[in-house]
Amino acid sequence: MSLPFIACIVILLIVTLFFGPVFCGRLCPAGAFTEYLSKVIPSRLQISWRTYTEIVPFRYGMLAGFVILPFFDSLLACAYCNFFLFDLFVNYFVFGYFISLSSSMILTLFLWAGLFGIFTKGGRGFCNFLCPVGAVQNLLYSFSSRLPFVYRLIIERQKCIGCKSCSLACPMEAMVIEERKAVNCVHNCILCGVCISKCPEKAIRYGRKDDEE
Ligand code: SF4
Ligand code: SF4
Repeated sequence: MSLPFIACIVILLIVTLFFGPVFCGRLCPAGAFTEYLSKVIPSRLQISWRTYTEIVPFRYGMLAGFVILPFFDSLLACAYCNFFLFDLFVNYFVFGYFISLSSSMILTLFLWAGLFGIFTKGGRGFCNFLCPVGAVQNLLYSFSSRLPFVYRLIIERQKCIGCKSCSLACPMEAMVIEERKAVNCVHNCILCGVCISKCPEKAIRYGRKDDEE
């Protein structure tokens, strides 16, 4: 818990409070890496986890595990961190040195890049199910997005024609179509903006409640 580390956490939470989980959608290299990796194989070979289970309870359930386990002399954080693993590989390719992989890191590599990466629709399965940093941001966003000054995803229902383009393109499976209208899930939307660029009706935008007509 060094001072720079604490400062990073505080900045992350403040940014999330005003702008939502943009770190996950715009800055996290570990999530972006598997999202791009997932594009190398056809989507018919990939799993859409929403078809089999509710994503949000798993997401917050893992977060609860991360928070509770240290009280029982155990730890999930760091041992199963895709960000740290990504760091190791970057170090290897840039500086040429590599720390040996522990069994938990090998499991993380399998889950992050394999099962929840290449073989998951959108490539963001690790973000959805296992990342506590993302879950904390979405928990905060689920409350803050109701405030008028906070930036969030806005769907103009009258413009939406229910074409599903946004839902099919969303890497987090955070957009669903209900009664022929798109509905966004604030518990796992990472504000990546993919749906905004895919909507043929320009019905989705990133803005504040204050700015709504
Ligand atoms: S709903 Fe849109 S902004 Fe949110 S994660 Fe999906 S594609 Fe990205
Ligand atoms: S892409 Fe646009 S029009 Fe199509 S379902 Fe999504 S919000 Fe509606």
